[in-house]
Formats: sequence, C-alpha cells, structure tokens
Amino acid sequence: MSGQTADDLEAYRREVRAWLAANLDPRDDDAPARLRGGDAANLSPERVAQQRDLQRRVHEGGYTGITWPAEFGGQGLTPAHEEIFAQESRGYVVADLGIAGLTTTRVCGPTILAHGTDEFRRTHIPRMLSGEEIWVQLFSEPGAGSDLAGVSTRATRTDAGDWVLNGSKVWTSGAYYADYGLCLARTDPTVPKHRGLTWFGVPLTSDGVTIRPIREINGSSEFCEEFFDDVVVSDANRIGAVGDGWTVARTMMVFERLGGDPDESPRHSGARELAPDLVALARRVGRQDDPVTRQLIARAHVIDLVKEQLDAYVAAQAESGTANPNLGSYSKLAAGTLNPVRASIGLEIAAAAGVAWHPEDTEASTTALNYLNGRILAIAGGTNEMQRNGISERILGLPREPAHDLDRPFNELRHN
Ligand SMILES: Cc1cc2nc3c(=O)[nH]c(=O)nc-3n(C[C@H](O)[C@H](O)[C@H](O)COP(=O)(O)OP(=O)(O)OC[C@H]3O[C@@H](n4cnc5c(N)ncnc54)[C@H](O)[C@@H]3O)c2cc1C
Repeated sequence: MSGQTADDLEAYRREVRAWLAANLDPRDDDAPARLRGGDAANLSPERVAQQRDLQRRVHEGGYTGITWPAEFGGQGLTPAHEEIFAQESRGYVVADLGIAGLTTTRVCGPTILAHGTDEFRRTHIPRMLSGEEIWVQLFSEPGAGSDLAGVSTRATRTDAGDWVLNGSKVWTSGAYYADYGLCLARTDPTVPKHRGLTWFGVPLTSDGVTIRPIREINGSSEFCEEFFDDVVVSDANRIGAVGDGWTVARTMMVFERLGGDPDESPRHSGARELAPDLVALARRVGRQDDPVTRQLIARAHVIDLVKEQLDAYVAAQAESGTANPNLGSYSKLAAGTLNPVRASIGLEIAAAAGVAWHPEDTEASTTALNYLNGRILAIAGGTNEMQRNGISERILGLPREPAHDLDRPFNELRHN
C-alpha cells in the first residue's frame, strides 16, 4: 500500500469521517479527563467491560492495527492512514483501556508480531486489537530492573515439553485487569545471564498466579506485584526461541521507548500556545501578573516546544526506517528529565492550592498529581541513567560500561 496517492488518502479520510460520525459519540471537551492518581484512576470491571466493547466496535469497523499486517488481523495500511484516523478520531470518544491498553498495542503486540509464531500471531493479535485480550509487561523483579538480564523467575521444562513457572514480578502496570502477561523467565541458569532467557505469554487466570495491587504515592493502585507458584505454561505460548530471550527483549525495549509518553495529556498538545494549562492555573490563583510566574510559564512553554520538536524528529526518523533503532532514547530521556521540571513549575505557581485542595477542584488536584507523577518517565521503561548509557554506547559508539558478570554462568553470580 506504499504507492497511495493524495487522492487515495483524501478518500480514506472521507470514509473515516463518515464511519466515525455514524458509529461513535462526539467527545465532550468539558468532560474532566481521568486523572492518573487516586481511586478514580483505577479501572472498575464495569469500565473495563465498556471500554472493551468500544474497542471491539472500532476493530469491527476496520480501524485498529491500521499499519499491522492484514494476515494477522491488522489493516496493512501506511502510517499516513494511521495519522488520518488519529486526527479524525480526536473529536470522538474512543476506547481508553488505561496503561495496559497502551502496553497491549504499543509494546506487547508489536513484540509478538516480530517474534511470535504464525499460529500465535493469528490467534492473539486480532484479540489484542479487538480489546478481547489485554496484555501487560512482566519484566521487572525485586532484584532485576535496570539489569533486566538479571531476572530470576524460573521456567523449567516438563517431560511433556511444556513449562512450569516459579518466581515473582513487580511494578506491572495494569495487571489487575489484564488477561495475559508477556513474561521474561530464566530457562537455563548454567549459561551467562543474557543467554539463558526465554519469553512466554502467560494467561493471568492460570492456577498458581497471584496478583496484588501496590498502593502508590499518587493514591492509585495501578501497579501490581505477581507471584508464580508452579504455573504451567504451554510451549505454544513461548515467544521466540528457547534461550534467545535477549534478542526479543531488545526488540521490546525499542518499542517501549518509541511508545511515546503515556502521560501525555491534552495540556501538552499545542505547545505553540503559551502553556495553556499553566496560564489557566495562574489566572485561577490570581498570579497572572506576577513577574516570577510569567517567567515560569515561559520556561514551561520552551520545555513543551523542545519536547514537541524532538518527538516529531524522532518519529520522522523512525518512519524513515533507516534510523538507529535506539533513537527513541532521546525522547524518553527528554520526558524523564523535563517532565519533573514542568511538574514543579505547576506546583510553584499553584503554591498553597497545589498542596491542599478540595477533591473536586480539578485544576489544583491535577497540579498536585502531575507533581507526584512527574518522575514516572524518569524510571518507567528504563531510567534516565540507562537512557544515557544507551545513547553513549549504541548511538555515540563509546565503550561499554565495565561489567564483571557477562561471561560467567548465571548460577555462579552473587545475587541479592
Ligand atoms: C510508572 C512505572 C511503570 C512501570 N511499569 C512496569 C511494567 O509494566 N512492567 C515491568 O516489568 N516493569 C515496570 N516498571 C518498572 C521499571 O521498568 C523499573 O522500575 C526500572 O527499569 C528501574 O528498575 P528498578 O526500579 O529495579 O531500579 P534499579 O535498576 O535498581 O535502579 C536504581 C537506580 O540505580 C541506577 N542504575 C542502575 N543501573 C545503572 C547503571 N548500569 N548505570 C547507571 N545507573 C544505574 C538507576 O538509574 C536508578 O537510579 C515500571 C516503573 C514505573 C515507574
């Protein structure tokens, strides 16, 4: 579909517009955005069911997986088609399956498309697109985060050729309402740590899986910890070759960094305007004429502009198909370093209103929650320090940082 003309794209836009108008509800711009924090941020089973229905409707209309291969349930179209749907659907209520909805389509789906067997892709990709299956990322463990290759969760092969999983994972966003986890496990502890790893798609309703929500600083419980006690996983659910998990992990990390800023809310769009959320906040707290506040707003405006330009550059390079796949680290690092600064600016402008507020005062509570959430992208998906390591080694070609544990069998290393 690469040879489409401007007329083809215009025809597609008309078709999309007509479908949206006939099938979805227009968005009420005054409706408060769902805040990422507090109990309200947690998705109730009823809300998840509603959002799955909405997602199914869009899938049946032929507007999910727009660039994904048609043989696995996508539409086989181009990024230009995808952009048209994104532009046109902005004014409509589309499914919001929360953070796990994003990990399903931005990280787990693309990784499975790249490394799953045909049978696995034919079964699961259409279900991921239709909202029937929500997938989360089961990578981090109490003893393995930045050092992802250090995971200890064991998968042991049975005589029948299937696998038995034992261990635990932590910080899994959205696991409490998910169906499957893309899980990294150690299948051979007798070889160096990067070589004995394998990925599995684990049904989270399996016997032996325990999921516990973790209470966060922002009041919500989006994160979970999971325990696996003799969980049987079919070999058909293996993603990639046995022992080749690090190859799959590298693909996954690229998608995770390109996945964009999951916290990006409408306040960041339109960076050419002078930080409209902060201008509104300054007016509400009566500080619009204060010279320090005006400096702070201008600073936030520059941050928005720099991030917007950088993200657009990285996205354009990624679309060209020739760019260094690690380029997403720039966007990730920009978000990880600049989001906390912008969040602090909001709190500084709000002053007392940002630390004590009425629950229904959305402007003040948003400022406070933005502050509490400000460091998410400094950690999630790889910390700022790990992005800097990646940029220096994989983009600038500097020597790797020294490591003592690359060539020794995993079971001979000391773990804490
Ligand atoms: C909002 C959020 C969502 C998340 N969602 C998920 C999820 O869905 N699934 C999942 O599996 N995990 C998830 N995580 C976990 C996340 O991937 C880890 O927290 C992250 O990789 C860091 O690992 P860690 O917490 O173990 O910190 P550590 O790796 O212990 O790091 C501690 C500190 O040491 C620094 N450090 C470590 N190694 C180096 C090094 N080599 N060079 C320089 N500095 C270093 C780090 O930068 C950090 O400052 C999430 C985290 C957050 C905050």
